[in-house]
Amino acid sequence: MKRNLATTLTAVFVLGGCFAPSLRADATKEPAPFPESPFQPDLTPGYVVIEGDIQIPLAQFQALTGGGIQAAGTFGPATLWPGGVVPFDFVTTGIGAVSAANQTAAINAMNAIAARAGVVFRAAVAADGNRIRFQNSGFNNSPVGMVGGTQIINIVSWGSEIIICHEIYHSLGFQHEQSRLDRGNFVTINLANICGSGVSVGCTSGLAAGQCCLCVDNAGNCIPCNFNFGTVNNSFTYGPYDFDSFMHYGPTAFTCNGQNTITVNAPWDTQWQNAIGQRDHFSYYDRINCRAQYPFPNDRWLQRDRFGLPFGTFQDPFLSTTLSDALAGVPSGGTLFVKFGNNYGGVGTHTKAVTIVAPIGDVKFGN
Ligand SMILES: [Zn+2]
Repeated sequence: MKRNLATTLTAVFVLGGCFAPSLRADATKEPAPFPESPFQPDLTPGYVVIEGDIQIPLAQFQALTGGGIQAAGTFGPATLWPGGVVPFDFVTTGIGAVSAANQTAAINAMNAIAARAGVVFRAAVAADGNRIRFQNSGFNNSPVGMVGGTQIINIVSWGSEIIICHEIYHSLGFQHEQSRLDRGNFVTINLANICGSGVSVGCTSGLAAGQCCLCVDNAGNCIPCNFNFGTVNNSFTYGPYDFDSFMHYGPTAFTCNGQNTITVNAPWDTQWQNAIGQRDHFSYYDRINCRAQYPFPNDRWLQRDRFGLPFGTFQDPFLSTTLSDALAGVPSGGTLFVKFGNNYGGVGTHTKAVTIVAPIGDVKFGN
Protein backbone atom coordinates (compact mmCIF):
# COMPACT_ATOMS: atom_id res chain seq x y z
CA MET A 1 0.00 0.00 0.00
CA LYS A 2 1.39 3.35 -0.95
CA ARG A 3 0.59 5.81 1.75
CA ASN A 4 1.21 9.44 0.90
CA LEU A 5 1.84 11.31 4.11
CA ALA A 6 1.24 14.77 2.72
CA THR A 7 -1.73 14.99 5.02
CA THR A 8 -1.77 16.15 8.59
CA LEU A 9 -2.04 13.31 11.01
CA THR A 10 -4.24 14.39 13.84
CA ALA A 11 -5.91 11.18 14.76
CA VAL A 12 -4.72 7.87 16.00
CA PHE A 13 -4.93 5.24 13.33
CA VAL A 14 -4.09 1.62 13.26
CA LEU A 15 -2.11 -0.12 10.60
CA GLY A 16 -2.14 -3.77 10.00
CA GLY A 17 -4.28 -4.47 7.00
CA CYS A 18 -1.83 -3.02 4.52
CA PHE A 19 -0.72 -6.37 3.23
CA ALA A 20 -3.53 -8.71 4.10
CA PRO A 21 -2.18 -12.24 4.16
CA SER A 22 -3.44 -14.20 1.23
CA LEU A 23 -4.87 -17.28 2.87
CA ARG A 24 -6.23 -19.25 0.02
CA ALA A 25 -8.03 -22.25 1.35
CA ASP A 26 -8.13 -23.79 -2.09
CA ALA A 27 -4.37 -23.82 -2.42
CA THR A 28 -3.04 -26.66 -4.46
CA LYS A 29 -1.31 -28.95 -2.03
CA GLU A 30 1.26 -31.59 -2.70
CA PRO A 31 1.09 -33.91 0.30
CA ALA A 32 4.44 -35.51 -0.52
CA PRO A 33 6.45 -32.76 -2.16
CA PHE A 34 9.75 -34.51 -1.58
CA PRO A 35 10.90 -37.89 -2.81
CA GLU A 36 11.26 -40.29 0.03
CA SER A 37 14.81 -41.56 0.20
CA PRO A 38 17.50 -39.15 1.29
CA PHE A 39 20.29 -41.50 0.32
CA GLN A 40 21.73 -40.28 -2.93
CA PRO A 41 25.11 -39.43 -4.45
CA ASP A 42 24.42 -36.10 -6.07
CA LEU A 43 24.45 -33.78 -3.08
CA THR A 44 26.80 -30.97 -2.30
CA PRO A 45 30.01 -32.92 -1.53
CA GLY A 46 30.20 -33.96 2.11
CA TYR A 47 26.51 -33.41 2.73
CA VAL A 48 23.56 -35.67 3.48
CA VAL A 49 19.84 -34.97 3.55
CA ILE A 50 17.53 -34.49 6.51
CA GLU A 51 13.93 -33.32 6.74
CA GLY A 52 13.33 -34.65 3.27
CA ASP A 53 15.20 -31.96 1.44
CA ILE A 54 17.78 -30.17 3.60
CA GLN A 55 21.45 -30.91 3.03
CA ILE A 56 23.65 -30.78 6.12
CA PRO A 57 27.29 -31.78 6.64
CA LEU A 58 27.82 -35.47 7.37
CA ALA A 59 29.19 -34.83 10.86
CA GLN A 60 26.04 -32.96 11.83
CA PHE A 61 23.93 -35.75 10.38
CA GLN A 62 25.75 -38.35 12.45
CA ALA A 63 25.30 -36.30 15.61
CA LEU A 64 21.66 -35.87 14.78
CA THR A 65 20.82 -39.49 14.05
CA GLY A 66 22.91 -40.76 16.94
CA GLY A 67 20.67 -39.33 19.61
CA GLY A 68 17.03 -39.46 18.61
CA ILE A 69 15.17 -36.19 18.41
CA GLN A 70 17.80 -33.61 19.14
CA ALA A 71 18.03 -31.51 16.06
CA ALA A 72 18.04 -28.45 18.23
CA GLY A 73 21.45 -26.95 18.38
CA THR A 74 22.97 -29.05 15.66
CA PHE A 75 22.51 -26.33 13.10
CA GLY A 76 24.44 -23.15 13.16
CA PRO A 77 22.59 -19.99 12.24
CA ALA A 78 22.38 -19.74 8.49
CA THR A 79 24.72 -17.43 6.62
CA LEU A 80 23.02 -14.90 4.37
CA TRP A 81 24.37 -14.00 0.95
CA PRO A 82 26.31 -10.72 1.23
CA GLY A 83 24.48 -7.86 -0.40
CA GLY A 84 21.72 -10.27 -1.38
CA VAL A 85 23.74 -11.24 -4.45
CA VAL A 86 23.42 -14.92 -5.36
CA PRO A 87 25.47 -16.13 -8.33
CA PHE A 88 23.98 -19.18 -10.00
CA ASP A 89 24.83 -21.70 -12.67
CA PHE A 90 23.65 -25.08 -13.90
CA VAL A 91 25.06 -28.52 -14.33
CA THR A 92 25.31 -28.77 -18.09
CA THR A 93 26.85 -32.17 -18.72
CA GLY A 94 26.22 -35.71 -17.55
CA ILE A 95 23.22 -37.19 -15.80
CA GLY A 96 22.63 -34.07 -13.74
CA ALA A 97 22.50 -31.74 -16.72
CA VAL A 98 19.64 -29.25 -16.60
CA SER A 99 17.75 -28.91 -19.87
CA ALA A 100 17.14 -25.52 -21.40
CA ALA A 101 13.48 -25.70 -20.46
CA ASN A 102 14.33 -26.55 -16.85
CA GLN A 103 16.92 -23.78 -16.72
CA THR A 104 14.10 -21.46 -17.69
CA ALA A 105 11.99 -22.92 -14.90
CA ALA A 106 14.74 -22.20 -12.37
CA ILE A 107 15.20 -18.69 -13.70
CA ASN A 108 11.46 -18.09 -13.46
CA ALA A 109 11.56 -19.23 -9.82
CA MET A 110 14.48 -16.90 -9.08
CA ASN A 111 12.62 -14.05 -10.75
CA ALA A 112 9.57 -14.79 -8.62
CA ILE A 113 11.70 -14.37 -5.50
CA ALA A 114 13.49 -11.29 -6.82
CA ALA A 115 10.11 -9.66 -7.45
CA ARG A 116 9.27 -9.98 -3.76
CA ALA A 117 12.57 -9.35 -1.99
CA GLY A 118 15.91 -7.73 -2.63
CA VAL A 119 17.70 -10.87 -3.76
CA VAL A 120 19.84 -10.33 -6.84
CA PHE A 121 20.33 -13.57 -8.74
CA ARG A 122 22.87 -13.34 -11.51
CA ALA A 123 24.71 -15.78 -13.71
CA ALA A 124 27.92 -16.80 -11.99
CA VAL A 125 31.26 -15.76 -13.40
CA ALA A 126 34.60 -17.46 -12.90
CA ALA A 127 35.54 -15.19 -10.02
CA ASP A 128 32.50 -16.15 -7.95
CA GLY A 129 33.78 -18.34 -5.16
CA ASN A 130 30.31 -18.94 -3.77
CA ARG A 131 27.37 -19.91 -5.91
CA ILE A 132 24.29 -22.08 -6.16
CA ARG A 133 24.30 -24.73 -8.84
CA PHE A 134 21.08 -26.30 -10.06
CA GLN A 135 21.28 -29.97 -10.85
CA ASN A 136 18.77 -32.33 -12.38
CA SER A 137 18.04 -35.05 -9.85
CA GLY A 138 15.53 -37.60 -8.67
CA PHE A 139 15.07 -35.45 -5.56
CA ASN A 140 14.56 -31.90 -4.37
CA ASN A 141 17.00 -30.62 -1.76
CA SER A 142 19.35 -27.83 -0.81
CA PRO A 143 21.71 -26.76 1.95
CA VAL A 144 20.54 -24.00 4.31
CA GLY A 145 22.15 -20.62 3.81
CA MET A 146 25.38 -19.83 2.01
CA VAL A 147 27.70 -22.69 2.88
CA GLY A 148 30.69 -21.59 0.84
CA GLY A 149 31.93 -22.74 -2.53
CA THR A 150 29.56 -24.29 -5.01
CA GLN A 151 26.42 -25.59 -3.35
CA ILE A 152 24.06 -27.93 -5.13
CA ILE A 153 20.34 -27.40 -5.40
CA ASN A 154 18.85 -30.66 -6.63
CA ILE A 155 15.53 -30.45 -8.40
CA VAL A 156 13.21 -33.11 -9.75
CA SER A 157 9.99 -31.09 -9.59
CA TRP A 158 10.83 -28.74 -12.42
CA GLY A 159 7.16 -28.28 -13.16
CA SER A 160 6.48 -26.63 -9.79
CA GLU A 161 7.81 -23.11 -9.50
CA ILE A 162 6.99 -23.01 -5.79
CA ILE A 163 8.90 -26.21 -5.03
CA ILE A 164 11.91 -24.69 -6.78
CA CYS A 165 11.40 -21.52 -4.73
CA HIS A 166 11.19 -23.67 -1.58
CA GLU A 167 14.61 -25.14 -2.30
CA ILE A 168 16.09 -21.75 -3.18
CA TYR A 169 14.70 -20.42 0.11
CA HIS A 170 16.74 -23.06 1.92
CA SER A 171 19.87 -21.81 0.16
CA LEU A 172 18.89 -18.26 1.12
CA GLY A 173 18.92 -19.33 4.77
CA PHE A 174 15.39 -20.37 5.62
CA GLN A 175 14.45 -23.48 7.59
CA HIS A 176 11.19 -25.38 7.60
CA GLU A 177 8.40 -23.52 9.35
CA GLN A 178 7.61 -26.40 11.68
CA SER A 179 11.21 -26.27 12.96
CA ARG A 180 10.40 -23.09 14.87
CA LEU A 181 11.09 -23.28 18.59
CA ASP A 182 7.50 -22.27 19.34
CA ARG A 183 5.91 -24.82 17.03
CA GLY A 184 4.59 -26.89 19.91
CA ASN A 185 1.99 -24.24 20.57
CA PHE A 186 0.58 -24.67 17.08
CA VAL A 187 1.19 -28.21 15.89
CA THR A 188 1.70 -31.61 17.51
CA ILE A 189 4.18 -34.14 16.16
CA ASN A 190 2.68 -37.62 16.29
CA LEU A 191 5.68 -39.87 16.82
CA ALA A 192 3.62 -43.05 16.55
CA ASN A 193 2.83 -42.31 12.93
CA ILE A 194 6.41 -41.60 11.87
CA CYS A 195 8.26 -44.30 9.97
CA GLY A 196 10.57 -46.04 12.42
CA SER A 197 8.42 -45.52 15.50
CA GLY A 198 7.96 -49.28 15.69
CA VAL A 199 4.45 -49.17 17.12
CA SER A 200 3.26 -51.46 14.37
CA VAL A 201 4.96 -53.68 11.82
CA GLY A 202 4.26 -51.12 9.15
CA CYS A 203 5.97 -48.46 11.24
CA THR A 204 9.12 -50.49 11.80
CA SER A 205 11.99 -49.26 9.70
CA GLY A 206 13.41 -51.92 7.46
CA LEU A 207 13.23 -53.42 4.04
CA ALA A 208 11.20 -56.53 4.91
CA ALA A 209 7.69 -56.90 3.61
CA GLY A 210 5.33 -54.51 5.37
CA GLN A 211 8.07 -52.42 6.88
CA CYS A 212 8.87 -48.86 5.92
CA CYS A 213 12.16 -47.31 4.89
CA LEU A 214 11.79 -43.60 4.37
CA CYS A 215 15.06 -42.59 6.01
CA VAL A 216 18.54 -44.08 5.85
CA ASP A 217 21.87 -43.40 7.46
CA ASN A 218 24.94 -42.59 5.44
CA ALA A 219 25.63 -46.32 5.05
CA GLY A 220 22.23 -46.84 3.50
CA ASN A 221 20.61 -48.56 6.49
CA CYS A 222 16.96 -47.88 7.22
CA ILE A 223 16.60 -45.77 10.34
CA PRO A 224 13.72 -44.05 12.19
CA CYS A 225 12.67 -40.76 10.67
CA ASN A 226 11.96 -38.86 13.85
CA PHE A 227 15.19 -36.87 13.50
CA ASN A 228 13.42 -34.98 10.73
CA PHE A 229 11.04 -33.36 13.18
CA GLY A 230 13.44 -31.43 15.35
CA THR A 231 13.41 -27.76 16.09
CA VAL A 232 16.27 -25.43 15.27
CA ASN A 233 17.94 -23.63 18.13
CA ASN A 234 19.19 -20.14 17.49
CA SER A 235 16.78 -19.93 14.63
CA PHE A 236 15.17 -16.63 14.01
CA THR A 237 11.45 -16.20 13.51
CA TYR A 238 9.37 -13.16 12.69
CA GLY A 239 5.61 -12.99 12.61
CA PRO A 240 3.04 -15.48 13.81
CA TYR A 241 3.36 -19.19 13.16
CA ASP A 242 2.72 -19.44 9.45
CA PHE A 243 0.56 -22.40 8.55
CA ASP A 244 0.38 -21.01 5.02
CA SER A 245 4.14 -20.97 4.45
CA PHE A 246 5.52 -22.88 1.52
CA MET A 247 8.29 -23.86 3.94
CA HIS A 248 5.89 -25.95 6.09
CA TYR A 249 5.66 -29.72 5.87
CA GLY A 250 2.47 -31.37 4.77
CA PRO A 251 0.43 -33.25 7.41
CA THR A 252 1.64 -36.73 6.46
CA ALA A 253 5.36 -36.14 5.97
CA PHE A 254 7.31 -39.36 6.73
CA THR A 255 4.14 -41.21 7.68
CA CYS A 256 4.28 -44.99 7.94
CA ASN A 257 0.56 -45.63 8.10
CA GLY A 258 -1.10 -42.82 6.20
CA GLN A 259 -2.05 -41.09 9.43
CA ASN A 260 -1.00 -37.53 10.17
CA THR A 261 2.49 -37.03 11.54
CA ILE A 262 1.68 -33.36 12.10
CA THR A 263 -1.60 -32.40 13.75
CA VAL A 264 -2.60 -28.77 13.80
CA ASN A 265 -3.65 -27.73 17.29
CA ALA A 266 -7.04 -26.22 18.04
CA PRO A 267 -8.37 -23.69 17.24
CA TRP A 268 -6.37 -23.56 14.00
CA ASP A 269 -7.03 -27.14 12.97
CA THR A 270 -10.28 -26.51 11.19
CA GLN A 271 -8.70 -24.06 8.79
CA TRP A 272 -5.24 -25.52 8.48
CA GLN A 273 -5.07 -29.28 9.11
CA ASN A 274 -5.55 -30.04 5.45
CA ALA A 275 -3.92 -26.88 4.15
CA ILE A 276 -0.41 -27.04 5.65
CA GLY A 277 2.26 -28.00 3.19
CA GLN A 278 0.89 -25.97 0.29
CA ARG A 279 3.22 -25.62 -2.67
CA ASP A 280 1.08 -23.18 -4.57
CA HIS A 281 2.03 -19.65 -3.59
CA PHE A 282 4.21 -17.40 -1.47
CA SER A 283 2.48 -16.80 1.86
CA TYR A 284 2.39 -13.28 3.22
CA TYR A 285 5.17 -14.08 5.68
CA ASP A 286 7.17 -16.01 3.10
CA ARG A 287 7.42 -12.66 1.34
CA ILE A 288 7.92 -10.49 4.41
CA ASN A 289 10.61 -12.67 5.96
CA CYS A 290 12.63 -12.88 2.78
CA ARG A 291 12.35 -9.14 2.27
CA ALA A 292 13.39 -8.57 5.89
CA GLN A 293 16.60 -10.53 5.41
CA TYR A 294 17.14 -9.37 1.83
CA PRO A 295 15.71 -5.85 1.67
CA PHE A 296 15.12 -3.75 -1.38
CA PRO A 297 17.46 -0.71 -1.43
CA ASN A 298 14.85 1.72 -0.10
CA ASP A 299 13.44 -0.53 2.62
CA ARG A 300 13.84 0.62 6.20
CA TRP A 301 12.71 -0.86 9.50
CA LEU A 302 11.56 0.88 12.67
CA GLN A 303 11.29 -0.51 16.17
CA ARG A 304 10.53 1.52 19.24
CA ASP A 305 12.22 -0.48 21.94
CA ARG A 306 15.31 -1.87 20.35
CA PHE A 307 18.79 -1.48 21.69
CA GLY A 308 21.54 -1.55 19.14
CA LEU A 309 23.01 0.34 16.27
CA PRO A 310 20.16 2.00 14.39
CA PHE A 311 20.81 1.41 10.71
CA GLY A 312 17.22 0.99 9.64
CA THR A 313 17.75 -2.64 8.73
CA PHE A 314 15.62 -5.48 10.01
CA GLN A 315 18.47 -6.59 12.26
CA ASP A 316 19.30 -3.07 13.44
CA PRO A 317 16.16 -1.00 12.94
CA PHE A 318 15.75 2.69 13.54
CA LEU A 319 15.18 3.43 17.20
CA SER A 320 12.56 6.05 17.51
CA THR A 321 9.38 6.86 19.30
CA THR A 322 8.13 9.23 16.63
CA LEU A 323 7.14 8.83 13.03
CA SER A 324 9.03 11.97 12.03
CA ASP A 325 12.37 10.62 13.19
CA ALA A 326 11.87 7.39 11.31
CA LEU A 327 10.66 9.06 8.13
CA ALA A 328 13.78 11.19 8.05
CA GLY A 329 15.76 8.03 7.40
CA VAL A 330 13.56 6.59 4.67
CA PRO A 331 14.36 7.51 1.05
CA SER A 332 11.51 9.19 -0.76
CA GLY A 333 9.40 6.52 -2.36
CA GLY A 334 10.79 3.92 0.00
CA THR A 335 9.05 1.64 2.45
CA LEU A 336 9.07 1.87 6.22
CA PHE A 337 8.33 -1.38 7.98
CA VAL A 338 7.23 -0.97 11.58
CA LYS A 339 8.66 -4.12 13.09
CA PHE A 340 6.42 -4.69 16.07
CA GLY A 341 3.19 -3.31 17.37
CA ASN A 342 3.61 -0.20 19.46
CA ASN A 343 2.64 3.45 19.77
CA TYR A 344 4.59 6.16 18.01
CA GLY A 345 4.23 9.92 18.05
CA GLY A 346 2.71 10.69 14.68
CA VAL A 347 1.01 14.07 14.85
CA GLY A 348 2.46 16.53 12.37
CA THR A 349 2.71 17.33 8.71
CA HIS A 350 4.53 14.71 6.71
CA THR A 351 5.34 15.48 3.10
CA LYS A 352 7.51 12.56 2.04
CA ALA A 353 5.82 9.88 -0.01
CA VAL A 354 6.55 6.68 1.87
CA THR A 355 4.83 3.34 2.10
CA ILE A 356 4.28 2.27 5.68
CA VAL A 357 3.81 -1.39 6.45
CA ALA A 358 3.12 -2.97 9.81
CA PRO A 359 3.68 -6.65 9.03
CA ILE A 360 2.24 -7.95 12.28
CA GLY A 361 -0.18 -5.07 12.82
CA ASP A 362 -1.13 -3.32 16.04
CA VAL A 363 0.77 -0.11 15.35
CA LYS A 364 -0.61 3.28 16.32
CA PHE A 365 0.60 6.71 15.31
CA GLY A 366 -0.63 9.56 17.43
CA ASN A 367 0.03 11.43 20.59
ZN1 LIG B 1 12.54 -28.04 2.55
